[in-house]
Amino acid sequence: MLILDLNSLRAMDTEAIVIRIKTPAGDMDSAVDCPALLNFNDLLVAIRDVMPEATVTAFEYEDEVGDRITVRSDEELKAMLSYYFNTMNEQRINGLLPDPLQIFPRAGKTPGIRNIHGLKVNTRPNPANDCTHAIPDSMANNSLKKSSAELKRILTNGQINAQDIHYQEQLGHGNGGTVYKAYHLLGKRVLAVKVIPLDITVELQKQIMSELEILYKCDSPYIITFFSAFFVENRISICTEFMDGGSLDVYKRIPEHVLGRIAVAVVKGLTYLWSLKILHRDVKPSNMLVNTRGQVKLCDFGVSTQLVNSIAKTYVGTNAYMAPERISGEQYGIHADVWSVGISFMELALGMFPYPQPLQLLQCIVDEDPPVFPVGQFSEKFVNFITQCMRRQPKERPAPNNLMDHSFIIQFNDGNAEVVSMWVCRCLEERRAQGHV
Ligand code: ATP
Ligand code: MG
Repeated sequence: MLILDLNSLRAMDTEAIVIRIKTPAGDMDSAVDCPALLNFNDLLVAIRDVMPEATVTAFEYEDEVGDRITVRSDEELKAMLSYYFNTMNEQRINGLLPDPLQIFPRAGKTPGIRNIHGLKVNTRPNPANDCTHAIPDSMANNSLKKSSAELKRILTNGQINAQDIHYQEQLGHGNGGTVYKAYHLLGKRVLAVKVIPLDITVELQKQIMSELEILYKCDSPYIITFFSAFFVENRISICTEFMDGGSLDVYKRIPEHVLGRIAVAVVKGLTYLWSLKILHRDVKPSNMLVNTRGQVKLCDFGVSTQLVNSIAKTYVGTNAYMAPERISGEQYGIHADVWSVGISFMELALGMFPYPQPLQLLQCIVDEDPPVFPVGQFSEKFVNFITQCMRRQPKERPAPNNLMDHSFIIQFNDGNAEVVSMWVCRCLEERRAQGHV
């Protein structure tokens, strides 16, 4: 039986819920921050996005005795939400954690298998898809009529607010920020949250938020997934996917067959960023993340000039991975990222930074010939790859397509994630045994 009472309607305005879309390919869990703003058509659009091959015209939910009730209109949607909030209340009174709201799309024909690898709905970068007004905080108090793109994003990633994040442990501290492992209560997922204190005006904050919007469009298996960013007082928090293997700077002397697969992912990630006209600007081992599934992803690329400038004003740091032309203050482009790939992979192979440290480090990168590998320890293809990337003249370094065509990259471009996965797991095991994790 449906009960439409005042309390449940009030709860709809204030309480976030998780909707579980039951599809033949699996369950899709999505946090919806303000259920009162949901309308039937927008939810249908979101379902169709998950099941593109099917003709979905309605969906169903189950009442307390398991009977299916069809939803075809805004009225029926409201009734469903009201019923759900009542059930949630009862579960709470009985000391239970509320179940997600399960909905069963009614499909005209059988959908094909899609998204078999995870629950996250894929919003491909699509210029026609309006993803440009993506600042999460602006969503909270908006009009009832939400664009379907906006709603899809809420259903996809869940809106993340400061109060819904539970910080667990500090993962590391870099030049400007501190990164924490955290749990997002609504989205029910682990996050990495980078918190950077910034004393800047509200205007600048807005500019940074708008510059970060492009991150919502980044969609590559080689780039860390961005969920949300928000300012609380004078701190910006940037929420991204958590990588359980951490960054490569702590892995020493990576064997070539593993390094090759990592290099393929890094080159693909950079090629993707360059295709969006984004220079990474901070390629180095600590910005290459790995996980136990064998994925390798880039993080901390400079999409927001204002953010980069604001951090630079607060923290003075030198970047030893910068190309000579950048150190000299000349114009730079894609080739500067390519240099950083070279020096990073040289370090990862050797297990130590290839220039003498600290000794006027940066000037020697500009003045001296690039470092060379000790003879006989590494394959010819690998040595050639590094030598090409670290040519002093930017134009002599490989262009993006030449990088992908390099024999070292081709050799390891076999999609074998197992190699990296097993190596990450083994290293984590060893570190655990030594009491480091
Ligand atoms: P810099 O600030 O100079 O770029 P950094 O990259 O070492 O240096 P941070 O970006 O603040 O500093 O990151 C600190 C550490 O947090 C990283 O070295 C990495 O080990 C960890 N880390 C960052 N992002 C993630 C993530 N998404 N998942 C897991 N660990 C992460
Ligand atoms: Mg970093």
